[in-house]
Amino acid sequence: MPSRKRAQGQARRRARAKKEEEELKAWLEEHIAMAIEQERRRRQTICYKLGKWFKRLLFGDMPIETSSGCKHGRWFASSEWLICEEFLEMFKIKYEESEKDPTVSVNSFVAARNATHERYAGVWENVTRLALIVSFYCGVGAQLILEGEKKQARSCAVMAYVFGKFAATMKKSKGGEEVEIIIPNSKLYELNNADEHTLVEYFWMRTPCSCLRPKFEQVKSTVKTGICAAIHCPLPDNGRIECTSMICCTRCAEESYCSEECQVAHWHKHKILCDKIAEQKAAFKSK
Ligand SMILES: [Zn+2]
Ligand SMILES: [Zn+2]
Ligand SMILES: [Zn+2]
Repeated sequence: MPSRKRAQGQARRRARAKKEEEELKAWLEEHIAMAIEQERRRRQTICYKLGKWFKRLLFGDMPIETSSGCKHGRWFASSEWLICEEFLEMFKIKYEESEKDPTVSVNSFVAARNATHERYAGVWENVTRLALIVSFYCGVGAQLILEGEKKQARSCAVMAYVFGKFAATMKKSKGGEEVEIIIPNSKLYELNNADEHTLVEYFWMRTPCSCLRPKFEQVKSTVKTGICAAIHCPLPDNGRIECTSMICCTRCAEESYCSEECQVAHWHKHKILCDKIAEQKAAFKSK
């Protein structure tokens, strides 16, 4: 009977379609689970490589819950923060890569900037987002100061300084042309070895809340020191000296010395940087 045969045929097709659908669903579920697992492992490896401290920084958590609930900045309240967070993860990976790569000739921060520039143009070409990143590092740094973690706070100061430089360079290049990013290594070294007064003051001046006030009151009467930019400075502690006795290069205002002798001795090295900064300043003024 043809109609019975047709009905049987339809039932077979329906059964086959149902089976295929179930197989597809199972296949999809398995692959989604695999993708999630892969992503989880990837994140784990990144965190493992960067260590516990970086993991905290990467995912934007504060070191511990603060009793006041204050996060010492504007970064956390912003919807823009998500993209900055993802970007920072990539930035750190690229920074680490260039640290290990002997063929990279520029400062590792600049190398990491160049390596992420294309993909994260949305961050690199947005002063507000760069400012959010500065605010993030200042907020974390402030919390670390409150916890007595000075060494880690110094790293935050370095990061805030670097991103502040990036933002400033960005402002200068508004005309469209590429402006070279200048990050003096002597400044990075100085911040990374900052005394308590300098360190606390750094964050105190860069956070909108008053959480650091008691800490600043405590340290503000102690001597503030800087580090002479001359590589072979004869002073102990790699050229540490009271800030009030330091002389600053009047042309670029970027590097400071313990004495005229050190400034003269360092000039052949500093000249290249100083010329570039002076050139940028002149170009910026003429706009
Ligand atoms: Zn606060
Ligand atoms: Zn010196
Ligand atoms: Zn100079």
